[in-house]
Amino acid sequence: MNKATTMALAGNPNAGKTTLFNALTGARQHVGNYPGITVDHKEGYFKHDGRDITLTDLPGTYSLTAYSVEEVVTRDFLTTRKPDVVINIVDASNLERNLYLTTQFLEMGVPLIIALNMVDVAKDRGIEVRFQKLSELLGVSVVPIIARTGKGTDALIKEALKVADSDKQWDSHDISYGEELDEAVMDIMSIVEDRSFLQDEYHSRFTAIKYLEHDDQMLNKGQEFDATVAKKLEQTIGIISDHIQKTMDVYPEAIIADHRYGFIKSIIRQGVMTHKFDTDRLYTSDKIDKVLTNRLLGPVVMLGILFGLYQFTFSWSELPVALVENVFTWLGATIDQTLPDGMLKSMIISGVIDGVGGVLGFVPLIMFMFFGIAVLEDSGYLARVAFMMDRIFHFFGLHGSSVMPFIVSGGIAGGCAVPGVMATRTLRSPKERMATLLTVPFMNCGAKVPVLVLLIGAFFADHKALYMFLFTMLAWLVALVAAKFLRVTVLRGESTPFVMELPPYRFPTLQGLFIHTWERTWQYIKKAGTVILGISILLWALMTFPGLSDMEKAQFESLRTEISHSFPTEIQQELSQSIDSKEKKLSQRAIELKNKLSDIDKEESGQMLRNSIAGKIGRVFEPVSSYAGFDWKTNIAMLGGFAAKEVIISTLGTVYSMGDVDADDASSLGDRLVNDPGWNSVVAVSALIFIMFYAPCFVTVVCIAKEASWKWAGFSVAFNTLFAFFAAVSVFQIGSLFT
Ligand code: GDP
Ligand code: MG
Repeated sequence: MNKATTMALAGNPNAGKTTLFNALTGARQHVGNYPGITVDHKEGYFKHDGRDITLTDLPGTYSLTAYSVEEVVTRDFLTTRKPDVVINIVDASNLERNLYLTTQFLEMGVPLIIALNMVDVAKDRGIEVRFQKLSELLGVSVVPIIARTGKGTDALIKEALKVADSDKQWDSHDISYGEELDEAVMDIMSIVEDRSFLQDEYHSRFTAIKYLEHDDQMLNKGQEFDATVAKKLEQTIGIISDHIQKTMDVYPEAIIADHRYGFIKSIIRQGVMTHKFDTDRLYTSDKIDKVLTNRLLGPVVMLGILFGLYQFTFSWSELPVALVENVFTWLGATIDQTLPDGMLKSMIISGVIDGVGGVLGFVPLIMFMFFGIAVLEDSGYLARVAFMMDRIFHFFGLHGSSVMPFIVSGGIAGGCAVPGVMATRTLRSPKERMATLLTVPFMNCGAKVPVLVLLIGAFFADHKALYMFLFTMLAWLVALVAAKFLRVTVLRGESTPFVMELPPYRFPTLQGLFIHTWERTWQYIKKAGTVILGISILLWALMTFPGLSDMEKAQFESLRTEISHSFPTEIQQELSQSIDSKEKKLSQRAIELKNKLSDIDKEESGQMLRNSIAGKIGRVFEPVSSYAGFDWKTNIAMLGGFAAKEVIISTLGTVYSMGDVDADDASSLGDRLVNDPGWNSVVAVSALIFIMFYAPCFVTVVCIAKEASWKWAGFSVAFNTLFAFFAAVSVFQIGSLFT
């Protein structure tokens, strides 16, 4: 019978909701220093004084007007789930702006308590908030906290429980909107109350205000609830609006907003806030921004920082990457020696170790990359990148808020398009959102990075960082041009202004950085360990079966015998002894024999792969793919990449280790590609282009279907693949002219 108390966390983006949520529930939800990271509400549980509490982290909003997804989500949650208490997190260092949302909670009448967060930041800026005074003036409990350290959270929950326990009805706080509107509100309220119009969900005053604000969602709900009353209300507000328009030349919504701000100002003026410093003194953040977001200097610094991130990632991770690779090489060699030849050994070495090892080998690199990104994100710099990119983005028919999805998807290389696609929910205009959603898969996600690193490392070893940088720029360019293309064709329409604000710079905490780095790295590892392992084994099977017929095997065997017999017996003995004793020194003739035999082995496994199911599929496509320089082996890898881009590497690993069974040749996959006659630097660039831009991976496609529709998901597969193919063909054809 002990029913859990329900609490909801609401507040402006970046006010610290998620931090508080994590502090209370112990969950590790992603905390970000930019708006829009919490798109859906998330639930957690905890106990306080033996009471069960369910806590919901709502998306950040500045207002409760149904302009954006977050606003609608928040409002619907409050009206349909009716939590016992709403904890409104307010950023003490940004009190005035944060209280705007508070006024709307007051109007809505929800049981409210204010968590005055970031009092440490406010203090650093010389701001002191008299929370008791604030509480008195608003008629709501106010508890100062520091969510980051957990200070004050106990007291907060204690207070919140008090509010939850008092069985007060939802009661709308009266804020005056001036004589004329106040009267209109009263008129509408009486109609609403007479007809019990929408009263299960909203307080009559809130309904009246939303009607006056021309709130689309409210108008639609009203229509559905009772069309005749809705019509009557719409007529009434029509008259009022016209009148206000005529007399004051503004819409009611503007007057309402003005009065809310006025209400806040008046509260603050009554001694709620004291400044220790000069108010026009520049905050440190503003000072830093003078340089970092300067029109000319800003972009230069930004490019420098991004380039620095690559240098850091690549040079620092070189050693650990080599280390992990050695471990897998050693593992493969050990198993090679201990297990008897056969299917199982082939599966473990070619399917499991080469496949998964190829993916895990990049873990250190990914970790360094994510660490760098976490520094930029947690310090607040990433939001500046969005701010600076807004102008450019506008030109391409996108929005400053599109930057975040792009970066999350791998704009700085190493993200994932899945959260990227989801992050587009923060975009208000549906067309801008769709254009962003369809182009984020062009970014170099964490799964593509290892492939890029492999090919660049193999073919352009002298300029790794530079090439990586150039390919990242190319991804942006292509994504933006594609977005523009979509925005002038299938997604034609107007653009909306930039609303994202700049959070203050903060020193990232070491713990925060490690958590971020680890969360993302772990995601990558989990993927490698489960999905990729399954796919890798499946592909191994496709590449192994049906295998060679006994007759074909016998043919190769007799070929081997024939060649051996063409050499003197001592040489044959020398070679077989050297294999048994692992002796490396061989005579000239013995080496000759060895090479001849290994040529036949290669031919045999090549023949086997050609005959396999995967080989057949790869060869069917070869006549077409050869225009882009891809042979059937590469086709097999690209096919695997549809499932997940990491699979490209593991498949190449499997394909090339099967085609080359020389046990002494421990060269890495990169070297094998360089030495393969089917590959050269032009093929490498063509393959890079294709891999960067062809169909998003399976999971992303499903995600696009969920966020938009299957039609758009299908569109993205077809559009991207066709585009990537033509780009790769152009690169290969033109490049081949010069070599
Ligand atoms: P949300 O958008 O409301 O979920 O905000 P987050 O929980 O993601 O917090 C935004 C940023 O503010 C993060 O970098 C937090 O570490 C930081 N933060 C949250 N609470 C505090 C606090 O009380 N003091 C300080 N200094 N930073 C905080
Ligand atoms: Mg959050």
